[in-house]
Amino acid sequence: MPSILATPAYAVAHRWRYAQTQRQLGKACLWDEGRGLGLCGDWCVGHRVKSAFLSGLELALSVLEG
Ligand SMILES: Cc1cc2nc3c(=O)[nH]c(=O)nc-3n(C[C@H](O)[C@H](O)[C@H](O)COP(=O)(O)OP(=O)(O)OC[C@H]3O[C@@H](n4cnc5c(N)ncnc54)[C@H](O)[C@@H]3O)c2cc1C
Repeated sequence: MPSILATPAYAVAHRWRYAQTQRQLGKACLWDEGRGLGLCGDWCVGHRVKSAFLSGLELALSVLEG
């Protein structure tokens, strides 16, 4: 197996201490039909991309359903 001999010119590590939701909303999204205002995001149901996708999908469906 070939090895990589290059040395990076710059390298830094960053610890994302507050990246994960500590307390989820517990609902996939929030939708106020009267105001035409909705909220979605990973924080509604988790802290991963899948959560963000599902939350956005649920909000889109809520908007379409009226
Ligand atoms: C370092 C790191 C690594 C990760 N690795 C993974 C992984 O390997 N796998 C995985 O599944 N998930 C991972 N995640 C989590 C994943 O990135 C998130 O779950 C996902 O990005 C959440 O999507 P979101 O749309 O809910 O929020 P975000 O992606 O945070 O989007 C929110 C957007 O709103 C904007 N915004 C904020 N405030 C305002 C404002 N006042 N006005 C206008 N715009 C505003 C922000 O600029 C941002 O563009 C990682 C997260 C981090 C930080």
